[in-house]
Amino acid sequence: THFGFETIAEALKEQRVGAVFSSVASSYDSMNDFMSLGIHRLWKDHFVRTLNPGRNPLTSPPSSQDQGWNILDIAGGTGDIAFRMLDHASTLNHDAHTKVTVADINPDMLAEGRKRALNTPYARSPRLAFIEANAEALDAIPDNSVDLYTVAFGIRNFTHKDVALREAFRVLKPGGVFACLEFSKVNNALFDAMYQRWSFGAIPLIGQLVAGDRDSYQYLVESIARFPSQAEFSGMIRDAGFLVPGKGYEDLTNGIAAIHKGVKP
Ligand code: SAM
Repeated sequence: THFGFETIAEALKEQRVGAVFSSVASSYDSMNDFMSLGIHRLWKDHFVRTLNPGRNPLTSPPSSQDQGWNILDIAGGTGDIAFRMLDHASTLNHDAHTKVTVADINPDMLAEGRKRALNTPYARSPRLAFIEANAEALDAIPDNSVDLYTVAFGIRNFTHKDVALREAFRVLKPGGVFACLEFSKVNNALFDAMYQRWSFGAIPLIGQLVAGDRDSYQYLVESIARFPSQAEFSGMIRDAGFLVPGKGYEDLTNGIAAIHKGVKP
């Protein structure tokens, strides 16, 4: 049946996404560097700075003044965003309590994250945890328990983005923040023409030459092209029940990436 085909297609997509991330887990940084010419590091720094994680009397949600924030970093993979958030909370907000749970569907990415955590101060600390979980069914995370939900370069890989957004809404406390950093749509025609040539022309070729893996890189480029525009994605965040401040997003580097935020009322 039609539905049968859809289910098979979805299962294949999940399998494909799994295979892509298993095959790139250890070369993950170089992959991101190729995809963004190294700029993803600056975007991630900026993302974390705008969220200002950690107990801070002026910016913390009121419920978390004493224990620090409870942060859930979905599709957190190798811990890139989690380590930055813990560093920010500790050094800028002098908060030694804020904790981050890194959730990812792929055990190979989590293993890489655990390995990298050994080079941080958080390796054996209760402030950092890794769990294997699908963003679309966060059964281990109670309702209304999270102060900040982050997802960086993850949501475009989810099979049902609307379901994941509703799960984000469920687990966040009222007043809690949903924040997403993702590749997006370039907002300048000339720049876009160059960007399309770079992503469809060069990236799969570089993937083949450097990692011997053209298919994974081709998948990543296509998943970026298929992801909704900034305004469409803002609409999806609203549809999940969030309040969206202002226009709802901030473009980074002419919209190559964008930050979206929503607040649970
Ligand atoms: N957030 C990290 C970063 O910015 O460096 C990792 C991003 S990586 C491009 C995408 C991650 O999404 C992979 O680790 C992949 O396993 C994970 N992922 C894909 N589908 C997922 C799902 N349904 N639930 C949770 N994680 C998922």
